[in-house]
Amino acid sequence: MKADLPKDSSDLRQIVQLAEGFPGIQAQVHVIQGATRSLTEVHLHGSTGVIPTKPFEEFEGVEKVVRITEKFRSIGRHGGQLDAVGFEYNGVQISQDTLHVFPGLCAVDNAQNVERTFAALKEHGIVTTRAGAYKPRTSPYDFQGFGGACLPYVFELAGKYGIRIVAMEITHESQIDEIRRALVESGNATGVMLQIGTRNAQNFELLKAVGAQSELPVLFKRGMGITLEESLNACEYVASGGNRRIVFGLRGMKTNLGDPHRNFVDFAHVPVVKRITRLPVCIDPSHSVGRRSSGPDGLLDIFHVTAQAVIAGANMVLVDVHPRPAEALCDGPQALLLEELPLFLEDIAIARRAYEERVKRIAR
Ligand code: PEP
Ligand code: MN
Repeated sequence: MKADLPKDSSDLRQIVQLAEGFPGIQAQVHVIQGATRSLTEVHLHGSTGVIPTKPFEEFEGVEKVVRITEKFRSIGRHGGQLDAVGFEYNGVQISQDTLHVFPGLCAVDNAQNVERTFAALKEHGIVTTRAGAYKPRTSPYDFQGFGGACLPYVFELAGKYGIRIVAMEITHESQIDEIRRALVESGNATGVMLQIGTRNAQNFELLKAVGAQSELPVLFKRGMGITLEESLNACEYVASGGNRRIVFGLRGMKTNLGDPHRNFVDFAHVPVVKRITRLPVCIDPSHSVGRRSSGPDGLLDIFHVTAQAVIAGANMVLVDVHPRPAEALCDGPQALLLEELPLFLEDIAIARRAYEERVKRIAR
């Protein structure tokens, strides 16, 4: 539909009626709220091949009618016919045109470290973070996260330091309600982006559960040992359930061909995902590289791969930091020090300026 269609638009009602008048067709209305405008789409499901487009095109409020026959029905761009619209959440606009850095703790260990981290973010004007409460660990004997017990102080401190979004992995659908309750109890001090970790990339029931609610956006991390297409289909589970606020995360692929990095860095897929889908793309340099080694130029590998992704148009950087990495209960060896944060942010700003310059040049 045309931009900023009123909620009570009679066109919208008539279009749904017209569509559902065809045998076996269901119509779903999706309203995507952006920072400056809202976008309404009517999706027709069923055997739509025999439905003519003309009667729909004749409505004043219709911008265009797009026939979707390919894969990735909900998240796809369908050969460039659909724009990437992005979304707004808790005052933060996230789209294929924006860039946000989410530095934070891989796993929450105690309130003091959460506070030190959030205070450092505030000092640098960062309003987005990560905080792990539910940790999927390879060994059952490893620290599994403090779960619901740490949510009250994480959310309270997030509010205190002006954090608008906390990216938080969930491993079971019951945690969605646990998080929602804790948010309400904190007086909605902050917002949460539900993270689906690589180990759950094909946990279809979990994907359906995060797709069945639209309150909290979703950060989907690609499966570490499946194809990109399989990961995109997994995202389709979230989107087809009705939740369109999805960010696609690249975090490296599991193969020893990437050694000595923890995973084979896959950030060459940043422009690929932006081309195929309407989703903003996140990169996780910490879980990709997995270590604090640096090049002979003095820059950490984590800085280098981040810059490579940002110069290619990445929209979100999820990065592990820790005030005292040696004490971290999970992934300390890959955490940036809080003192390294300003340098890291500057490095990202340089890469982002270069990206914007490159886009300007090609447009000329
Ligand atoms: C994480 O971000 O803490 C994490 C476990 O990442 P991944 O699912 O990419 O391994
Ligand atoms: Mn981790």
